[in-house]
Amino acid sequence: MKKFLKTGMALLLAISLAFGNAPAVFAVEGSTEDEAPGSCNNGEHYSTQEDTENVVSATCTTPGSYDIVVRCKECKAVISRQTVTTSPALGHTAGEAVKENEKAATCTEAGSYDNVVYCTVCKSELSREPVKVNALGHTAGAAVKENVTSAGGYDLVQYCTVCKAEIPGSRKSVSKSELKEQAITITKLSAIYKVTTVKKAAKFFSIGAKAKTSVKAKKISGSKKITVSSKGKVQIAKGTKKGTYTARVKLTANATSIYKTATKTVKVTVKVK
Ligand SMILES: [Zn+2]
Ligand SMILES: [Zn+2]
Ligand SMILES: [Zn+2]
Repeated sequence: MKKFLKTGMALLLAISLAFGNAPAVFAVEGSTEDEAPGSCNNGEHYSTQEDTENVVSATCTTPGSYDIVVRCKECKAVISRQTVTTSPALGHTAGEAVKENEKAATCTEAGSYDNVVYCTVCKSELSREPVKVNALGHTAGAAVKENVTSAGGYDLVQYCTVCKAEIPGSRKSVSKSELKEQAITITKLSAIYKVTTVKKAAKFFSIGAKAKTSVKAKKISGSKKITVSSKGKVQIAKGTKKGTYTARVKLTANATSIYKTATKTVKVTVKVK
């Protein structure tokens, strides 16, 4: 078997030498075709032409290049193909980081998002960084009364204004006798403005209501020219004509675990002259 192989190879070599026309070998970089010897004159090509093919522009990741193809002018057989690099790969161009997969944080649960950077040219993803957002925590509302008993006792409890959950640790049992009274005091209930100044802009003053706990104001009746904010700001509308305008305002001091609620209804008067 071994002897037979040797003999075969020797025979092939002998044939090649005898004909003296072994196919030419070209130095080809990145050759993509097996060059056929062609059919001119028993494999000899006398006249050749050079063509430029496969012109490719450089991208972020691949170089620019073209092929120089040498062909026989007669039979068009490809004799060589050489790839020439014109410029290296350009590299990516990072854009501004964008947020993706955003999960909003809630009162009790952390949120998250990915900071992602894309190439502005080829749009491929260059980096992705997960970011954690801390839980927001509850936003406590005003204390509310619950579970009133026949003896007058009750619970004071606060709820979250966002998720409505009971604020942990906010519930306090109160027996009626333990609660302290509180009174609402007021600094100003009337004002006089010149009609010429009211013509230019709305005018306002503060009732200045105070108590042991926070006080809220609410207009319950009166002139449409008068508005009252929850903080007790009394405003007379711009352009109000001469006259005397009044409104009734209810003031409420919050109940807490220490103080009873307190209310007071007052009359505010605005004179335009
Ligand atoms: Zn040819
Ligand atoms: Zn790119
Ligand atoms: Zn909450």
